[in-house]
Amino acid sequence: MSKFLLVVFDGLRPDMVRPDTTPNLIAFAASGTNFMRARSVFPSETRVCSASVATGCLPRRHGLVANRIPHPLDAARSVDTGHMTLLKQIEQDTGAPLLDAPTIARLLHSAGRDFAILSSGTTGQTYVLNPEADALGQLSLSVHGPEFCSTKGRGLLAKLPPPPRAPAERAVWLVEAYRAHILPAPPDVSILWLCEPDTSGHYQGLGSPDQLDALRAADAAFARLVADWRAGPHAEDLTIAVASDHGHATITGLHPIAPHLIGSPAEGATVMAGSSCGLAWPDASAETIAAAADWLTTQDWVGSVFAADGIDLPPGVLPNSAVLANHRRAAQVVFTLRTSNGPSARGLGGTTLYDGNLPLGGGTHGGLLAAELHTVLMFAGARIRPGALADAPAGLCDIAPTALALLGLSGAAAMDGRVLAEALFDAAPSDAHPAAESWEAAHGDYRQRLARTRFGRHIYLDEGYRG
Ligand SMILES: [Zn+2]
Repeated sequence: MSKFLLVVFDGLRPDMVRPDTTPNLIAFAASGTNFMRARSVFPSETRVCSASVATGCLPRRHGLVANRIPHPLDAARSVDTGHMTLLKQIEQDTGAPLLDAPTIARLLHSAGRDFAILSSGTTGQTYVLNPEADALGQLSLSVHGPEFCSTKGRGLLAKLPPPPRAPAERAVWLVEAYRAHILPAPPDVSILWLCEPDTSGHYQGLGSPDQLDALRAADAAFARLVADWRAGPHAEDLTIAVASDHGHATITGLHPIAPHLIGSPAEGATVMAGSSCGLAWPDASAETIAAAADWLTTQDWVGSVFAADGIDLPPGVLPNSAVLANHRRAAQVVFTLRTSNGPSARGLGGTTLYDGNLPLGGGTHGGLLAAELHTVLMFAGARIRPGALADAPAGLCDIAPTALALLGLSGAAAMDGRVLAEALFDAAPSDAHPAAESWEAAHGDYRQRLARTRFGRHIYLDEGYRG
């Protein structure tokens, strides 16, 4: 019976997959199909991406619309979705599941198939991948401790040496745990989510010696897993996919936005800051939302500006639906800080202003830069076309449908994503043709552009920027 493993290198930019940093990922890609136009979702933030991986759906369907979201019952406060306890509290407060769309975990359970997660991401990130792990009797293991694992995850954690503290070591530890305890008898679908090179990129900077070391260590651990797989009993029936959830941009300016809001039409809004930001109000009128969005287009520190669908949008502002993030839980105004495609000090393209706790020169993501939206996506295995470079558009939402197709299970058709037939031996590639879509809005000197690609009924975000 066919099985599927997804290994996520959190925050890995495609241009960091190089012979000197990830020789083993390059060899893996050469043995299978490598998607050259893989895309994240917006906001390009880890929990948003995790929900798209889990559901095969866009943020407008799954509803986990930002790393920090307005509280669903009280937009006067916001919730950091990095904490499992806060996500469980939201579910209790609202009496509703965290995600609006069914997860692959639930679909597998309904089909009598098994699912497991091992993650060194935040506790919230691990929870988003499968909020029902305990209810469905599935394994979910977080390196952050037994209280953040499902019952089965706690059972596995108890057999393992204590996780190291350093994130780069934790990622390697997690791969070794998978090799030793899961790979010999893998569940039907499993996800191995590595917090590197994201964590080192955030704090030490993109392309820093620390980040390259963390990436090399994760790549080497992955090579050991691949070697076991090829030599073991599941070389034929297990397909392995490698993905990143988003890329990274370099912070070239720390820019607290709260002081700017004082005395502006946005004063009084709940602010969710980062490189992608949100403004929310418990009971905002259409006029308030429009005035705040309009004012943002007059500020030189602002990049792209989006606002709730269904109101009269001021000139220069695009609807949240343009970035596929319109959902009742979304902030009424969503915007990015000013960006550039120019290189960082280490020569990696994509820089941005940022409001938060990360250091100047560190990495961040969440916005619409190509550096943030362009991701890694590759597959290898007995059922995957070898040595193939796929130039059809692909994205995070396509992973779950493709896994279901490999397992011979239904459910893909109800997802936003598509089965990546370009990678599969036994599937006819789609006869759709990529069609570029360009959105533009201007207000005086302010002008923003958004580039998307339509492929059949599927839409991918390529890039958004001011200019
Ligand atoms: Zn991430």
